[in-house]
Amino acid sequence: MHPLAKLDHQYVWHPFTQMRDWLRTEPIVIAKGRGVVLEDVHGRKYLDANSSIWTNLHGHNHPKINASITRQLRKIAHSSALGLANEPASLLAERLIKAVNRPRLPRLAKVFYSDDGSTAMEVALKLAYEFARRTRGIKSPRFLSLQGAYHGDTMGAVSLGHIDLFHKSYRGLIFKTDSVPAPYCYRCPHNRAKPERADAREYRRCNWECVAKVEQRFEKQKSDEPYAAFVVEPLVQGAAGMIAQPQGWLKRVGDLTRRHGSLLIADEVMTGFGRTGVPDRGASLFASHHEQVQPDLMALAKGMTGGYLPMAATLVSQAIFDAFLGDYAEFKAFFHGHSYTANQLGAAASLASLDLLESSKSIRDRTALQESLKQNLARLWDLPHVGDIRQVGLIAGIELVKDWRTREPFPLADRAGIRVCEAMTRRGVLTRPIGNVIVIMPPYCTTPSQVERIISALYESIAEVLGGSPSKEKARRLEREKA
Ligand code: PMP
Repeated sequence: MHPLAKLDHQYVWHPFTQMRDWLRTEPIVIAKGRGVVLEDVHGRKYLDANSSIWTNLHGHNHPKINASITRQLRKIAHSSALGLANEPASLLAERLIKAVNRPRLPRLAKVFYSDDGSTAMEVALKLAYEFARRTRGIKSPRFLSLQGAYHGDTMGAVSLGHIDLFHKSYRGLIFKTDSVPAPYCYRCPHNRAKPERADAREYRRCNWECVAKVEQRFEKQKSDEPYAAFVVEPLVQGAAGMIAQPQGWLKRVGDLTRRHGSLLIADEVMTGFGRTGVPDRGASLFASHHEQVQPDLMALAKGMTGGYLPMAATLVSQAIFDAFLGDYAEFKAFFHGHSYTANQLGAAASLASLDLLESSKSIRDRTALQESLKQNLARLWDLPHVGDIRQVGLIAGIELVKDWRTREPFPLADRAGIRVCEAMTRRGVLTRPIGNVIVIMPPYCTTPSQVERIISALYESIAEVLGGSPSKEKARRLEREKA
């Protein structure tokens, strides 16, 4: 075993990992990376098919981001935002506000910096809570989020979460929130479409029963505890299993949230910065705008720095900012902040990343990646253990099932997703599953031939691990339905 792997085994505790399993095999120790390729200490190369847990945008070791960080490093790495402003954080705030404001949509006006997705959500929660108390006179505002929601691992974010496996143990530590069904069309009791052949955003055939549930929930809210905010991940719910929302869902729930006097919090930690694709109208980098929705608070992290450094932001409306203004002795300030808030190196990386994102080359690359993912993913349909394929822009989730006819899932204890990803690793492709859903979300610079390699590795791995030479019956049925 490599000496660094030994040290890892001896001293490091890894996130979201059963360490007994981890300690059984030599871990991959990453030594370097360039573009989509990661290289380990033995010189083995891998394609980074989940962008290093959904963070990396333009590829590793990007010369422009490297240069921006290096330039900043020659000046200063960090000074506190408590009592001081700094150059890249001021420039970045202006750029973020410009990027997030679109014609005919309400404006976001201020940027509150923090460190990661969880802290960006904590800030959103605390601001929305206090805003409801101060402007609506509500004593104990509540929050509404989606079933299967995941918004981070700090306690406020865990309170918003509805994944029992992660969150149940901590019920005694957190505050209670309500949930409404996510628009999970593949497993929706009202879905009357045939998902075997349809694109996730097209296969909805229903009367928006899931939207009606949100409406009913708002109508039933208690007058002394109404909702401060409805919290959603726009267009696609990530850790819930890459649940793609049908077109029109976000706009509908956004409108009804406002009608009921509540704020809308968009968690764009995963979806932000172009991940959900290049929209037809305009070139917005944010998922909310694909449906002409502007939230009152937007949480950004992961890709903000291009996937280089832990830095995050919560963008808010002027009205929210104004609710915290007052004379010093009124003590209305927002008493919240972190040691590394508005860190200069993170801001320098983010500025370079925004330059890249706004370049026509990046828009071309993203359009091409979206298309090559679509073409390659289609091949997976004929595997008997592929139940659903959900692609939203540059994000794909492939749901593995025990039986594609009944959609019966694999029991989690079978580790179907984990075993498929292990087989992909043996083929030089790295990603992590969410239960039975395999995530494919490569950096924007991934070429069509790299996409081909990623999807071929996935195809072969599913066939190897779950059995399944392509099912003739399934293929024939698809053909019949296409005809
Ligand atoms: N929100 C969403 C939608 C996420 O996907 C994540 C992380 N996967 C978070 C929040 C938490 O972000 P972080 O891990 O950076 O704290």
